[in-house]
Amino acid sequence: NVENLSDLEKLEVLGHGNGGTVYKVCHKKTSTIYALKVLRFDHYATGILQQAASEAEILKLVDSPYVIRCHGVFDNGFMSSTSDHNDGGGDLCFVMEYMEGGSLLDVLRARQRLPEQVISSVAKRVLQGLHYLHAMQIVHRDIKPSNLLINGRGHVKIADFGVSHVVAGAREACDAYMGTYAYMSPERFDPERWGGDNANGFAGDVWSLGLVALQCHMGRFPLITPEQKPDWATLMCVICFGEGVEMPETASPEFRSFIWRCVEKDWRKRATIDELLDHPFVNKTCCPSTEDLVDYV
Ligand code: ATP
Ligand code: MG
Repeated sequence: NVENLSDLEKLEVLGHGNGGTVYKVCHKKTSTIYALKVLRFDHYATGILQQAASEAEILKLVDSPYVIRCHGVFDNGFMSSTSDHNDGGGDLCFVMEYMEGGSLLDVLRARQRLPEQVISSVAKRVLQGLHYLHAMQIVHRDIKPSNLLINGRGHVKIADFGVSHVVAGAREACDAYMGTYAYMSPERFDPERWGGDNANGFAGDVWSLGLVALQCHMGRFPLITPEQKPDWATLMCVICFGEGVEMPETASPEFRSFIWRCVEKDWRKRATIDELLDHPFVNKTCCPSTEDLVDYV
């Protein structure tokens, strides 16, 4: 694990997200490359950041080939912030495994669509990652293409698990942002109508995975047409009051059945991770692909 933030040297910016920046960094003593996610909190007391960082300690215990490793979590108070006055803010920093292939979002931007065989192996890896996280009682809450990262061997792993929980408070203070809502399940969007008594978050991750898999096939976000405005109100209408997800004719019967089980609106009837791991769509013997996306990054 990385002991000190000062052991890391910033090399370049890998990308910007909702409220943060990800840098490629080098550990000066070991020359290991990591990704460093820095979330800026403008008006948060450092005590809250300290608490968030200690809650996030559990992320360092996550050790699965299907999930990005987290090598350190730091709260970096106002003392070391970029501004030279004490604004009560600070940074929350996550040292992560570096994924040189970028994200599934990058792949989709370049290729639009992926063949079913590739979607099948991506889905299987994400299911295995979710199976692992859920067993640790970690709900992801933010499965979407930019949070599925690809390493140099073309293997997809889940990123940003737990982070969404830790920064939820800060995000609520932000404006409605489509990236955060688009893949959200009906029971999270509208707990009163769809949640019922003990809606736990686990089923929400299954919903999001179904949408991502369908997006890989359709080449666009599946719930709204290009003509519709992708704002919060439109999404709310489509997800909570719409007819349900429209399935393209072009998908194979197994794929359609897999998607149907993921995007079931009632979370109690939706497939569990265990059921999906046994689904024919992710168990076709014809695709022993071990290199998933290696030709696509
Ligand atoms: P959000 O803030 O809503 O999660 P996001 O996922 O697009 O949105 P970030 O998680 O901040 O934002 O990531 C921004 C970009 O940085 C990603 O799209 C990806 O290209 C890159 N990135 C993130 N983590 C890593 C990593 N571990 N290795 C390599 N690149 C990464
Ligand atoms: Mg992310």
